[in-house]
Order: sequence, then C-alpha cells, then structure tokens
Amino acid sequence: MLIAGNWKMYKTASETEAFCVALRERLAGFDGVDVAVCPPFTSLAAAVGSLAGTDIAVGAQNVHWESEGAFTGEVSAPMLRELGVYGAIVGHSERRQLFGDTDEDVARRTRAALDAGLSVIACVGETEAERESGETEAVLRRQVSVLEPHENLVIAYEPVWAIGTGKTATAPICQIAHGFIHTLIDVPVIYGGSVKPENAAELLGLANVEGALVGGASLDVESFAAICEAGAAV
Ligand code: PEP
Repeated sequence: MLIAGNWKMYKTASETEAFCVALRERLAGFDGVDVAVCPPFTSLAAAVGSLAGTDIAVGAQNVHWESEGAFTGEVSAPMLRELGVYGAIVGHSERRQLFGDTDEDVARRTRAALDAGLSVIACVGETEAERESGETEAVLRRQVSVLEPHENLVIAYEPVWAIGTGKTATAPICQIAHGFIHTLIDVPVIYGGSVKPENAAELLGLANVEGALVGGASLDVESFAAICEAGAAV
C-alpha cells in the first residue's frame, strides 16, 4: 500500500522543511504503508534533507525523458537521482490538460525515469465528458497501452472529474476502473481524486485499490498522516 502526496505548486523550500519536520514527528514509529511526498522541484532538496533517516520517500511531480540537453524548464531523471529523490509522478491530468503532455510523452518520461532507477507513479483517468459518453474504458486502454509492466511502476487511477473537486469516485466506479486497469497491465493501481481522512478508509479498503495519490489533503500534516493511518488499518 502506497500513500503519496502530490503537493502541486504549493510549499516553498522553507514551508517544505517545516512540513517534513512535523510529518516525521507525527509518523515516528509508523509502519504499515509506504509513504511519499512529492513537492515542487525547488523544494525537493529541503524535503530530502528533512526526511533523511526516515522511511518517508520524496518524489518529483514530473521528469524529462532526456538525461540532459536543450530542454528549457525541464528536469532529468539523473538530476533527481543525484538529489536523493526516489521517483516521480508522470502524466498527471494537469500536465496532460494544461501543458500538453501526450500519451507518447508520458511513455517516454516513464521509460527514462525507470531506466534511471527512479520509481514512477503514472497517472491515467477519464474526464467527465469521456465518462458520460461511455469512453472511460477506451481512454484508460489508450493511456495504459503505452506503458509496460515494471517492478518500480505504479499506476494512479485519477478520474479527472474527481481531482480537486471534492467529488470522489464511488466504490463501484473505483473497483470497475481498477479491475479494468489490472486486465491491461500487471502493476499496483492506486486511486486519486479528493481522497480525505473522511473517505480514506472506505476507498483504501476496496479490493484492487493499492494506495492513494492525495492532492489537497496532503498539504496538511494531520490530514495526510490520518490518510496514512487509514491505509495501515485496512
Ligand atoms: C491529485 O492532484 O493528484 C489529486 C488527487 O488531487 P486531490 O486529492 O486534491 O483531488
């Protein structure tokens, strides 16, 4: 079971340090789920430093497919590895929708990160319009088809209509989607979309749900820790 926090474009380096110091105290002696936080690039070093000696991993929110080159604004897998970063989120719907990441980009980012020794959380999920027009399985099939199984790959099923909206997938929606993804690729599938302390136990208790990618609720130490504890209790 993996509980990963996607901080998006929140928390400066000093805010990150304060958060991580508090989280390591809050989760001292905690066991039972793998925990990761994914701050912005500028806060990665602060997170790695503040969480040194703990089991809490630090991930990035994106990674480029080349190891270096003329790619203004991008960061490579070897750069992340040298910082002590364990992995990266790839293909988040905000990257796909706001920054034009295609399925092929997601595949290239994923391959390069895995080849460099990073773990990857690859995000897939349908929009509300795609769900309403009955395209959910076709979208998931298209997004997953570019990925290959790997021991360090996890897929996050994140229905776009549930991200940051307060709407969570119902248990049947979640189970059908996770079950479908499992027919496409043999890697763990975690759920993302408005996971909070109040709904974490129910979602994480579902068959085929092997963790959570948490956005908004990961920005607060207490709510993130409560979700980790809910994961450990199932
Ligand atoms: C996310 O950004 O990956 C996410 C799931 O966000 P939230 O939990 O805020 O819906």
